[in-house]
Amino acid sequence: MNIHEYQGKEVLQQYGVTVPRGKVAFSAAEAVDAARELGTPIVVVKAQIHAGGRGKAGGVKVAKSLDEVRTYAEELIGKVLVTHQTGPEGKEIKRLLIEEGCDIKKEYYVGVVVDRGTGSVVLMASEEGGTEIEEVAAATPEKIFREVVDPAVGLQPFQARRLAYAINIPKELVNKAAKFMLALYEAFVDKDCSIAEINPLVVTGDGDVIALDAKLNFDSNSLFRHKDILALRDLDEEDEKEIAASKFDLSYIALDGNIGCMVNGAGLAMATMDIIKYYGGEPANFLDVGGGATKEKVTEAFKIILSDPEVKGIFINIFGGIMRCDVIADGVVEAAKQIKLEKPLVVRLEGTNVDLGKKILNESGLNIVSADSMADGAKRIVELV
Ligand code: ADP
Ligand code: MG
Repeated sequence: MNIHEYQGKEVLQQYGVTVPRGKVAFSAAEAVDAARELGTPIVVVKAQIHAGGRGKAGGVKVAKSLDEVRTYAEELIGKVLVTHQTGPEGKEIKRLLIEEGCDIKKEYYVGVVVDRGTGSVVLMASEEGGTEIEEVAAATPEKIFREVVDPAVGLQPFQARRLAYAINIPKELVNKAAKFMLALYEAFVDKDCSIAEINPLVVTGDGDVIALDAKLNFDSNSLFRHKDILALRDLDEEDEKEIAASKFDLSYIALDGNIGCMVNGAGLAMATMDIIKYYGGEPANFLDVGGGATKEKVTEAFKIILSDPEVKGIFINIFGGIMRCDVIADGVVEAAKQIKLEKPLVVRLEGTNVDLGKKILNESGLNIVSADSMADGAKRIVELV
């Protein structure tokens, strides 16, 4: 789960990370009030969307008066901001962070991530702050430094200091920077983050080390024990179909293609997407209905797939292990009738009671193509679409 920058900064502050003073605003009037309260000569108006790259896209504005704050806030609220992370459709700005202007001396990058290579949490840092870390990694990988954290002892102060020296933090500020990194790491572990990225971390004219941006992602599987974090969820930022799916405990992820997929088991769902692509098609979604899908769940899954206007056909690929094929077939027939399905539907069933399942599909009177194998099913849906 993702949260906004202003929320991320509030979380980090609880762990001792220094952040600029600021306040969220939902309208231009609130923005002006917030700026007046801050009382600083320079105020920064920052679009709050779940995507980075806002600065370059015009979503971060520096205002030198309350009038300017109002002008920028009016301009940004309700605007669709397109950054390289939002995709071409962009994201509508509904919230602003009104923040004190910061006297930036230099921008750095610090991020905590889970590294699959080492199977550990890794702290990364670079002197090239403010730019995309992916760009730095591609152009000048030698400018990124890493410390692998031993989970038994956590990030050690010497590691944080070594990193601070590596990225050329001014010597007199190395201890402050190390403290910053230790606090960031503590927040990451304590809140079950999957990413905690500060880009930029800045050194200010007064010799402070502060987080000017904050991107926190959380492991959704841990949210049951972080009610405070779950409360920060902003449904406006999420795909409607994904929200509907989560209500019915379906694992659904929207994709760009036009073949809707309904599969049981994440591994089979991945393999199904692969084989569709192999035969020249493009999946419209990843959807795992789970091991014990009921008729109701299958119906909901159908509705969600069909609510995507891009979907031109559906491929159902079910392996009946715990689940019986006849139950699935019943669910599919029921759902197809309820929804008055008009798009091509290919079903591949295998496993327990497969013959009975196929019989139900064949006798349903519905226009369902029954496939003999996964490959056969994928080939057919690609042809039909
Ligand atoms: P994004 O990563 O989405 O572009 P950032 O929060 O990193 O957004 O802001 C982009 C740039 O705007 C920063 O690198 C920094 O130079 C500037 N900036 C952001 N917040 C402030 C602030 N409070 N004071 C001064 N400059 C800021
Ligand atoms: Mg940033």
